[in-house]
Amino acid sequence: MATDTVPPSSAEDVPTEPGGTPQSDTDAHVESRSGYRQPQVDVAAMTRLLDGTYAEVRNLVRTNLAEYSSILEDAETMSRADFRERVKDVVVEMASTGQTGMGFPVEHGGGGDIGASIAAFETLAYGDLSVLVKVGVQFGLFGGAILQLGSKHHHDAYLPDLITGKLMGCFAMTESGHGSNVQALGTVATYDVATQEFVVTTTTEAARKDYIGNAAAHARLGVVFAQLEVAGERHGVHAFVVPLRDEDGTVLDGVRIEDDGRKMGLNGVDNGRIWFDHVRVPRENLLNRFADVTPAGVYESGIENPNRRFFTMLGTLIQGRVCVGGAGINASKVALTLAVKYANKRRQFEATSEDTEELLLDYGMHQRRLLPLLARTYALHFAQEELASQLHDVLSGVVEDEHTQRELEARAAGTKALGTWHATRTIQECREACGGAGYLSVNRFDALKADTDVFTTFEGDNTVLLQLVAKGLLTDYASEFSDMDQLGMVRFVTGLAVETVIERTAVNKLLERIRDVLPGGDEWDQEAGLLDPDYQLAMLRFREEHIVSGVARRLKRGIDRGMNPGEVFSRVQDHVIAAGRAHVERLVLEAFVAKTAALPDGDQKVALNLLCDLHALSTIEADRAWFMEHGRLSVARSKAISREIGSLCRKIRPLAEELVEAFAVPREMLRSPDLLDWPPA
Ligand SMILES: Cc1cc2nc3c(=O)[nH]c(=O)nc-3n(C[C@H](O)[C@H](O)[C@H](O)COP(=O)(O)OP(=O)(O)OC[C@H]3O[C@@H](n4cnc5c(N)ncnc54)[C@H](O)[C@@H]3O)c2cc1C
Repeated sequence: MATDTVPPSSAEDVPTEPGGTPQSDTDAHVESRSGYRQPQVDVAAMTRLLDGTYAEVRNLVRTNLAEYSSILEDAETMSRADFRERVKDVVVEMASTGQTGMGFPVEHGGGGDIGASIAAFETLAYGDLSVLVKVGVQFGLFGGAILQLGSKHHHDAYLPDLITGKLMGCFAMTESGHGSNVQALGTVATYDVATQEFVVTTTTEAARKDYIGNAAAHARLGVVFAQLEVAGERHGVHAFVVPLRDEDGTVLDGVRIEDDGRKMGLNGVDNGRIWFDHVRVPRENLLNRFADVTPAGVYESGIENPNRRFFTMLGTLIQGRVCVGGAGINASKVALTLAVKYANKRRQFEATSEDTEELLLDYGMHQRRLLPLLARTYALHFAQEELASQLHDVLSGVVEDEHTQRELEARAAGTKALGTWHATRTIQECREACGGAGYLSVNRFDALKADTDVFTTFEGDNTVLLQLVAKGLLTDYASEFSDMDQLGMVRFVTGLAVETVIERTAVNKLLERIRDVLPGGDEWDQEAGLLDPDYQLAMLRFREEHIVSGVARRLKRGIDRGMNPGEVFSRVQDHVIAAGRAHVERLVLEAFVAKTAALPDGDQKVALNLLCDLHALSTIEADRAWFMEHGRLSVARSKAISREIGSLCRKIRPLAEELVEAFAVPREMLRSPDLLDWPPA
């Protein structure tokens, strides 16, 4: 990224635009004149950089994946019932290697390292994604809830057996009636002081638990989220351990379970619906880290405000969200590995020579389709690495301040949204880039597409998550943030906070700051080099602050006109979501810029700078209409950015195969004989 390692391409090296007149100069000539020397990518060194602190953990998972690689075929050949059993067996066998228990405390048989558990989960996304999601449900959701919401006696009672997979469980939060709005759940747990039990009841048909992983066949226990009622008073949503099946797998009295049926993907996971008919559980089954009920029926909590209590509880569960985002990014790596390798072998049409057809990857359009996605995958990888490290610090107690925690929650939400949307888009583009071969199940895209699709929905719907990000920005993660429900938040954002937000994000102040770091004074957006990271970051910062303050102004205008706050918020909601997205895009670029800047000079740095530039300029290009509307991009500069992207693609093209090899997806997990062993012998 730094201008000292990658000189910008000359304006004369390419045709001006699609349909423009080609120049006589070739890229090679221009690039040798400008001093550009193509870097070599040392694949092993790049893998080491990507794997980071947890290389050993990632390699353990790679080994396990390769050992169980036949599961990829089983997904196609086995009946749904048999495949579910097979997935369960693989999950339990993997658990015996320690791979799935790394985030649990050592005293209960875990590895005591949250960062390691995230790295293990992300790497598992190279393989069958039913296995991944079953691991996520059992150890992340079910185990995570017991660990984070329970206290010592819950840990002693459940963790040792759940870590080994002997005790299977589920995380029963969502109901048919409510998924995103968890505070509105309809299941009720009423305290019976006479027997010192909670009575768990599905109050309406819409309050049945739905889509619950592990519920249809395997879970013996459920962590069930329900409205707690004590002596006629409601205290909000709390989590309870509720037995569902006995040791033989028979569903217990008062519990009814139905299979959710066939799904678009992930058919190795047994998702189901659950109804509770006055099911009694002992008082101790309330997961009571944040609130408890005494035997006499007195509700006690160290956190007075019910909303704050609820969001504090949910905040401890963000690890699942971080893991799903990372899994989406890694599933994209599988798709890119296949599409790039195939494009480097597959020929179609004589284009530059009369007797040899052109490699797909030598076509400008093919480069344009795949290489910005490759660059974005690297960008998201480094952003995810930073997020995982921050989460490790917060959950391990290294960082304890509340503001940082709230920022982390927003960052986790935003990275999950961008990472999983990226997976959906990348897998589709790579499928098309492999033509007809991409459509055959043996070539992996079938399962990749079907299984990752729902990543955009579970662990928080992406659109709802970006809204959460924007609300954090609008309130500057104010301490009141945790006290507010949806309506309270809207009132806060549209009322008190508006003036502050407008003041804080005053775009003229930002522009002053930018002027100080970039050449060109007021003309920085005309003069600064396109490959200057400060320019690229300034563009994304400008967009973010402009959108956030624009939302605040619109909210204020609506309120000043006497409109209902909810209605005002709803009208500007697309703007709110854009603010959240712009914020996370900026964080992602910052992470990539910081990563490359910290590297020692050398070919690896040059190669990553190329990717970082490509990612930054593609991000600006994708929203060029906005930048032009807001006076930050002239027509000439916009065209220069597109030219530069073409040039960067050509520079990355010779490195592309090594750059995907550095992801180190085990050969066994790629399958795809038609793509990787092309042409047929
Ligand atoms: C395969 C699978 C596995 C799952 N596993 C589990 C599990 O193990 N345990 C569990 O508890 N849950 C599980 N879930 C449930 C999942 O977490 C929910 O489906 C998810 O949270 C979304 O909730 P919903 O389906 O009710 O969608 P809704 O919340 O109804 O959302 C529907 C649409 O409305 C939009 N929307 C919602 N609210 C707003 C708003 N305020 N403003 C604008 N737009 C809005 C959303 O963007 C979305 O596009 C699973 C789901 C699936 C499909």
